[in-house]
Amino acid sequence: MQQADSFNLMRTPFDHHLPASVRFFEPRPEVHLSLSASIEASCGVKYRFNWNLTGLVRKEFKYAEAAARKRCYMSQPSSNILKLELPTPYPVGNINAYFIDGAEPTLIDTGVYSSRSLNALREHLQAHGRRLEDIRRILITHDHFDHAGAALHLSEICRATLYLHDKSTALARTPPEAQQQLFNFLLRCGVPHNILEQAFALFNAGSRFAGLEAKPCAIEWLKGGETILCDNLVLTVMTTPGHSPDHLCYLDVGAGVLFCGDLLLPHITPNPLLYLDPKNDYRRSHSLLDYLDSLEKLQGRSLAIAYPGHGSAINDISGLISRYLNFIEQRKRKFLKNVVAGLNTPYKLALAVFGELDLANQYLAVSETVAYLDLLERREKISVDWDGDIIRCTEIII
Ligand SMILES: [Zn+2]
Ligand SMILES: [Zn+2]
Repeated sequence: MQQADSFNLMRTPFDHHLPASVRFFEPRPEVHLSLSASIEASCGVKYRFNWNLTGLVRKEFKYAEAAARKRCYMSQPSSNILKLELPTPYPVGNINAYFIDGAEPTLIDTGVYSSRSLNALREHLQAHGRRLEDIRRILITHDHFDHAGAALHLSEICRATLYLHDKSTALARTPPEAQQQLFNFLLRCGVPHNILEQAFALFNAGSRFAGLEAKPCAIEWLKGGETILCDNLVLTVMTTPGHSPDHLCYLDVGAGVLFCGDLLLPHITPNPLLYLDPKNDYRRSHSLLDYLDSLEKLQGRSLAIAYPGHGSAINDISGLISRYLNFIEQRKRKFLKNVVAGLNTPYKLALAVFGELDLANQYLAVSETVAYLDLLERREKISVDWDGDIIRCTEIII
């Protein structure tokens, strides 16, 4: 059996992973501002930083300065955007929430529902002279626990309006029938029953990070295309499914500023996760194909900076997308080679490509294998019997 890419996966089933082979480049060193500073760019745009922001405003100011020099598109491109790193219990590490200060203080993503994360959020805002209760709007990029876990709780205690995709499942526990459908599908992928039982128990234990008992103050359901005004940012809601069906990005077209959640990450690839749609006879989403379509929506756009859900800000967005596409092509070939070699179920293929994995990682590996079978079916000569008792794939020989 082929040894895996060395996986360094998250331990929760519903999140993305960190294959070591996808570390495109080292995270950039971060600038910590330790003194008050006022910088006037050549175009006359003024940046003012306070020492209290140490650890909050990172290297982004440098990008903003460069972008402002290029074209003076905003009075203060990023000085009212604070990156708030919040701890998660997952191997991916911290999640980035973003606070946009102004008349309607806005938070993009919330972190998990845990006292550690909520305390960190409170302290970050206090350092900026704001209170948690000042938040008026909460924009969610997608409903994974690390991004939306505290959304209901914060909406309730801040009296803040919650903005989320109308496909989001952040408001309720996964119903038993939905879990059963997923369980049955994975059984048909060839995953052993005992492994599935343990993986699902692990996932259910993780729902404590979602604070589902809280009552949100108000909800705005988004479909994509809406505009949200945040002082000097005019955010357009973009639907970008793939990593999750409800994934949204918030884009200021004029400034080229993108809040991209887990669509783009600077040093890891987002996982195309398996979802069965309870509103549509539990039909399966085609996560990798959706993800590629979402990337295509960004290509050719003039983007100055992307603020991701994890890691440092991204300024070479088209370069990162090219590296993603190249990576996906390489991985697709690896799957094809194994199909041609005669491995015929998603589970066998997952083990061949990713190697022996622990519980949650086996789930992620099978989820990703199903996504690549969709891609192979579309682009290569393979056929997949999705309706059989066991899902099997074969090379089409002409
Ligand atoms: Zn995610
Ligand atoms: Zn994430």
